[in-house]
Amino acid sequence: MAARDFDVVVGGGGMVGAAVAALLVTDPGARGLRVALVETDPATMPLPGDPAELRVSALSRASERLLRTVGAFDLLAVRPPCPYSRMRVWDAASEPDGAQALVFDAADLGEPNLGLITENRAIAAALLTVALRGGATLLRAPLTAFEPDADAVRVTVGDRGLQAGVVVAADGARSMLRGLAGIAVRVHPYPQRAVVARLLCERPHAGEARQRFLPDGPLALLPLSDGAVSLVWSTTPEHADELLAMDDGAFALAVTEASGHVLGELRAGSHRQAFPLSRDHAATYAGPRLALVGDAAHTVHPLAGQGVNLGFLDAATLVETLLAGRAGGEDVGDRAVLARYSRARRVDNLVVAAAMDGLSRLFGARNPAIGLARRTGLGLVGRSLTARRRLMQEALGLSRDLPARLSADAS
Ligand SMILES: Cc1cc2nc3c(=O)[nH]c(=O)nc-3n(C[C@H](O)[C@H](O)[C@H](O)COP(=O)(O)OP(=O)(O)OC[C@H]3O[C@@H](n4cnc5c(N)ncnc54)[C@H](O)[C@@H]3O)c2cc1C
Repeated sequence: MAARDFDVVVGGGGMVGAAVAALLVTDPGARGLRVALVETDPATMPLPGDPAELRVSALSRASERLLRTVGAFDLLAVRPPCPYSRMRVWDAASEPDGAQALVFDAADLGEPNLGLITENRAIAAALLTVALRGGATLLRAPLTAFEPDADAVRVTVGDRGLQAGVVVAADGARSMLRGLAGIAVRVHPYPQRAVVARLLCERPHAGEARQRFLPDGPLALLPLSDGAVSLVWSTTPEHADELLAMDDGAFALAVTEASGHVLGELRAGSHRQAFPLSRDHAATYAGPRLALVGDAAHTVHPLAGQGVNLGFLDAATLVETLLAGRAGGEDVGDRAVLARYSRARRVDNLVVAAAMDGLSRLFGARNPAIGLARRTGLGLVGRSLTARRRLMQEALGLSRDLPARLSADAS
């Protein structure tokens, strides 16, 4: 058997790959394991005064717990996460403060907040810092080849060939590793793109996330800790192009009107970007000496902000499964170990993807009868505390938690 350079090579150091490395190096059960993280463009922590980043994520309680467990949470102080304690949902034909709007309140659950909104770059940089401090090796080059055999897997990183026990594919939605392993993926593109921007608002956001369902897709305004809001507007590709081409004044006016003036007059506070949206799902998360995590395994519609939260649950479950196998004498790249991980996560992710799809269809429907049923439904749910709690727990990912050992560590 060729000597291994590393036990685990994580291919891709975005938020999810960095989480896998950070979990491994901070877990006493991984003592002695050699971990490498391969990333062409590693995130660096923003400095005070650096312009705010466009990409943000709404993190669930489980994701916050993961960041706290590994010691990454405190490193976010430069860009303090913005807690949101309420979420307001309404549709095109109703008013944000009308009877048919739905308001989720953390107080209904006895929770301090519903989640935290943080810049993606800061999250990835904090996890990367933890991974490197804990002894992971950063290989700053592209991973280009992957050849598994019975004893090990050979990977090519830049111009270097390495032997490892297992490769974790955390290389995003267009995962090259998934392709090299020949793992099939079901791709369901949405006829939408998400326009993302930062806006300054006339009225304070008061820690409330807001989402209006318009006929072409949802428009979300997420509160940020500096008082601005982050826009995620899912709309037709043609409309997205128009929004990108507008000058700042016309763009801010378009968002002010489409959001029903819920935060008064908005002003542009950044450049804009648009992202294609797709619901993709890999046929399996386990290949020969390969495990898929995060967007490499699945993508979901961003309407409930669950993508990276599901990725963090993959990371925690994978590490838990690898280390339980190791404690029982199994190799980290053992087929049976990786298959156990895949089984543990695939069904949960499928359920969430289907739920997001259903919500997207329900709220996107132009049929007037469906629109009426939807508004009536929203009103009914809004009046029932039990229904609101249930929906909050599902839609905001509050019902999903880390594997037991990790959630116990963080409490
Ligand atoms: C508009 C929008 C809004 C969203 N909002 C939310 C939200 O509020 N909450 C939420 O939970 N999710 C949200 N998501 C989803 C979330 O952004 C993704 O799920 C998350 O970024 C996936 O992280 P990842 O680490 O799996 O992949 P990525 O972020 O894609 O990272 C992959 C990394 O791999 C590296 N890489 C790729 N190939 C190679 C290679 N060959 N060699 C070396 N390195 C490589 C890349 O450089 C990159 O750093 C949103 C998505 C969109 C589009």
